[in-house]
Formats: sequence, C-alpha cells, structure tokens
Amino acid sequence: MLAYYFYFCGKVNFTYPKGIRFHCIRCAQCCGDTEKHERRILLLQKEVQKISEAISKPIEYFAIKTNGCQPYLYEMKKKIGDNKCIFLYGNNCTIYTLRPLICRFYPFQLKTTKDGKYKFLYTKECPGIGKGTYLGKKYFKNLLHQTLIQLEEE
Ligand code: SF4
Repeated sequence: MLAYYFYFCGKVNFTYPKGIRFHCIRCAQCCGDTEKHERRILLLQKEVQKISEAISKPIEYFAIKTNGCQPYLYEMKKKIGDNKCIFLYGNNCTIYTLRPLICRFYPFQLKTTKDGKYKFLYTKECPGIGKGTYLGKKYFKNLLHQTLIQLEEE
C-alpha cells in the first residue's frame, strides 16, 4: 500500500507519495496515445495564447476546443498516424519551454479530496517511475505552486 506524506504549504494542504523516485528517460510515451490509453493533452486558455504567439500560428492550428473539462478549454491536436502531440518530433518536444502544465506534471496528477485538500497521484505506466533520485516535498510543492499560479492567471 502506498504511503503519503502530508504537508502544509501556506494555506494549502497536500499529500504526496512517500519514497517515490522519478527520472524522465525521454521515451515520449506520455506525448500521445499508447496501445492501452488515449492521452488527452488538455490546455489552459493562457497556454494556448502563449503557444500561438510563440509559433505565430492561430490556436486552431494546434488545438481544438473541449467541453466540460474546466479549467481546460482546449486540447492539443495529435498527428495522424502515430497519434502523438503535434509538437513532438522524434522524441523531442519542440515547445519544451512552453509545454503545458499537464505535461510538466506527468507522471503525476493532482486531485482534490472531498475535504478540499490536494493529493498527488502518479501513474505506473511511465517507465521513469522508480528511476533517478527520490522526490520530496520540495518537488511537489513546486508543482503545486506552478498550478496555483497558472490557475490564478486564468
Ligand atoms: S513517459 Fe515518463 S519517462 Fe517517458 S517521456 Fe513521459 S515522463 Fe518521461
């Protein structure tokens, strides 16, 4: 059974997996569909605007509107054939510095519990889980800060 640390960050409570190691091996598995899962790369309004400005293309070039996925208003288009993110070339993300929050988070996910606390979960489908150094509260606190800042800007 997975154990969780509890941490209080400012006014925000969160828990994160105890004794978790992660190191991205750049396999690009998370950048699109796999045999088992369809991956939806959801995007915030601010994110699509920044990407659109950076690549000088309209939002419709790389994203479609979503319904009922608040606060995510868009979803990244995927390439026909391999069903990978439109910005993935080989195993490289061509908008890496502008990559959306959802990609920065992977393989972790933030859930809200019934009592209003945040809980970090992770997926074992990522081959980077169990590799690299142990992640502590600093790592998860940083992810949480990025999320709260992004959502405040929306
Ligand atoms: S699936 Fe995991 S290891 Fe592979 S690119 Fe994504 S985050 Fe990195």
